[in-house]
Amino acid sequence: MSKLDIQNLAKSFGDLQVIKDLSFSINEGEFVSILGPSGSGKSTLFQMIGGISLPDSGSILIEGQQVNGKRGVISYTPQTPSLLPWRTILQNVLLGQEIAGKINKEKALEMIERAGLKGYEHVYPHELSGGMKQRVSFIRSMLSPQSIICLDEPFSALDEFTRLEMQKWLLSIWSEYKRSILFVTHSIEEAIFLSDRIIVLSSKPATVQKEFIVPFKRPRLEDLLLTEEFLQ
Ligand code: ADP
Ligand code: MG
Repeated sequence: MSKLDIQNLAKSFGDLQVIKDLSFSINEGEFVSILGPSGSGKSTLFQMIGGISLPDSGSILIEGQQVNGKRGVISYTPQTPSLLPWRTILQNVLLGQEIAGKINKEKALEMIERAGLKGYEHVYPHELSGGMKQRVSFIRSMLSPQSIICLDEPFSALDEFTRLEMQKWLLSIWSEYKRSILFVTHSIEEAIFLSDRIIVLSSKPATVQKEFIVPFKRPRLEDLLLTEEFLQ
C-alpha cells in the first residue's frame, strides 16, 4: 500500500482552475519532489495535503484512509514557516511532540546540537539567521511523530551556499530517520539532487505532466559531511 495517495484532485479559486485531475502516490521512506513553475499550484496542493484547505473533488489517502481536510496527520511546513516568537528554540522544536503528547527532550537537544545550534536552546527566534531558523523548523518536523513530511520550497529564500549546506543536512537527517518526504521546489537542480523521484506539474491547471525516477545515485553520505565553519 502507498504511504500517500493523491487521487483525481481538483481545486479552483472562482473561475481559476488551479489543479485538475491530479493523481500520484508516494511510498514508505521515499523522497519525492514536486517540481513546477511559480503559480503552478504547488502550495495549493500542499495546503490540501496538510488539511488547511479542501479539494473540490478527489481524495487524499494516507495508508489507505481518506484524510481530506484533516490536520495533523502529516507534518506540513508551509512556504514561509514561522517559529513562535514567544517560545525559545527548544520550546519551538518541542512543539510537534507536545501536540502529539509525547516529549523526548533529550533527542531534541541532541538534534539541536547536530544542527550546529548548541548554545541557542534558550534564545528566541529573532536572534537567529534565516538558515538557522530553517534548521529549527526542520528539526521540529523531523521530531514530530508523523511519518510524512511535506516541505514547501524550504530553501528558495536562502543564498546558494547556505542552500547547499541545508540540502546536505536534510539528506543526512532523512537517511537516518527514513521518513517519506514530499518536497516542493521550482528548482530542477534541487529536485534532481535531493529526490528518488520527481513529479513534474504542468501549469494551469496543474496535473501530472511527467513522472520520473532520478536516473543516478545521490552523492554518498560520506561526501556530504557538513563544513565545520557552517556549523560553528
Ligand atoms: P505555486 O505554489 O506553485 O507557486 P500556488 O499554489 O501558490 O502556486 O498558486 C497557484 C495559483 O492559484 C496562482 O495563480 C495563485 O494566484 C492562485 N491562488 C492560490 N491561492 C489562492 C487563493 N486563496 N485565492 C485565489 N487564488 C489563489
Ligand atoms: Mg508556492
